Amino acid sequence: MAVRFYNTLSRSVEPLQPLVEGKVSFYACGPTVYDYFHIGNARSFVVADIVRRYLEYRGYDVSFAMNITDIDDKIIKKAHEEGVPASEVAEKYAAAFLQDIEALGIRKPDHTPRATDTIQEIINHISGLIDAGKAYEVAGDVFYDVTSFPGYGKLSGKKLEDLVAGARVEADSRKHNPGDFALWKSAKPEEPSWDSPWGKGRPGWHIECSVMSQKFLGETFDIHAGGNDLIFPHHENEIAQSEGLTGKPFANCWLHFGFLNIDNEKMSKSLGNFFTAREIIKKYKPETLRFFYLQTHYRSPLNFSQEGLDAAEKGLERFRTLYRALQNAPDGKGVIDISASRERFNDVVDDDLNTPGGIGVLFELVKELNNGLSSTAGLSSDTKKAALEFLNATLIDLFGILKIEDDAASDEEFASLMELVLDVRSMARQEKNWGMADLIRDKLAELNIVIEDGKSGSTWKKQ
Ligand code: AMP
Ligand code: ZN
Repeated sequence: MAVRFYNTLSRSVEPLQPLVEGKVSFYACGPTVYDYFHIGNARSFVVADIVRRYLEYRGYDVSFAMNITDIDDKIIKKAHEEGVPASEVAEKYAAAFLQDIEALGIRKPDHTPRATDTIQEIINHISGLIDAGKAYEVAGDVFYDVTSFPGYGKLSGKKLEDLVAGARVEADSRKHNPGDFALWKSAKPEEPSWDSPWGKGRPGWHIECSVMSQKFLGETFDIHAGGNDLIFPHHENEIAQSEGLTGKPFANCWLHFGFLNIDNEKMSKSLGNFFTAREIIKKYKPETLRFFYLQTHYRSPLNFSQEGLDAAEKGLERFRTLYRALQNAPDGKGVIDISASRERFNDVVDDDLNTPGGIGVLFELVKELNNGLSSTAGLSSDTKKAALEFLNATLIDLFGILKIEDDAASDEEFASLMELVLDVRSMARQEKNWGMADLIRDKLAELNIVIEDGKSGSTWKKQ
């Protein structure tokens, strides 16, 4: 079976049919950089990373773009509060974003376009919409006329006539229709601005994503994604702006991610009920947080709790223990068909990125392998090799929830520490402090570490 996704636009699960065979173009809405991101945002970033990795795991060549919104009301507000230029706030938190996604094991997207690097393309796009009669200028502001686009509402299922001024739809008497939205905002005093045919100003949020995605992926591309909160108005508006100008489909498949909640309420900056990813990964391994997310289907809400993270850590430990046991077990005779597990795994995850189902298949395999290892026949070298390859492909390369460098890294750290201990002991010997030198040697012996003193210095080994 082919890879399938639930497409918000068609409201059904559909086989992925890329525009170019074997290649997938994929855009996900990225952060607005005015603060460190929280673990709700992080859920969306991790899921986007998994969409990309799963497509690669299934053999596609993926071109992945995630934007950085670096000019926005919230950035300007923060800059005013801190008495610094908006560009300084954006620069600081864009750098923090890139650092934090790396720390979370999220692979850097192929493209991370910034709105402020795309101003000329945005102005060109808006001019095109005005020329096509889809947008109009009022005293330096430019609005999109939603009645000019017959498909308006097709993503969110909203009806144009029902659209009244709502949460992210501002009431403004200058608009022709209440649902019209800003493409260009005229500059207010002390706001960053760029020259345009309509005077100094800055782009609206929605137009930025239309232009940045098309700049890197083309007028029509395969997948567009973001959190559920972005369906309306953000993504609805992106479609109207893009298709309104090109007359071609914008994104073929729309993926929307469920929220991370806390006490059954969406985690958000404005409610103040959040933990930053930075603070959480000081207490938990990034792999634990990723595993916590992936145990729930990406479209379902997920309630955050410390207990949930602790349980995820326990689950991961089962994978780690089995992985090490497979690496260290002597060759036996028992055989397990790993390819059957691989097929089951692919079948399950192909169906709208069912990661909890895939993890279930992996846990079944862990049980089988543990039984095999503890049986008198043990496991054959071929079975162990195939199992490790499969776990490398799934737990490490696809989900990014197991780190095998752990052991190597801690070995290296241990060796550096031992060097330090030997240096201290050698100084003690030079000072003829034999008591200290012997004490260090004896204490290490208690830890099964033997020191041998030779002419060219001392060496150590584990017993
Ligand atoms: P923002 O920086 O607010 O534009 O958000 C960046 C991404 O995080 C968007 O895709 C949002 O939909 C997503 N997001 C925001 N809050 C949550 C949440 N509580 N759970 C999951 N995703 C979220
Ligand atoms: Zn966006």
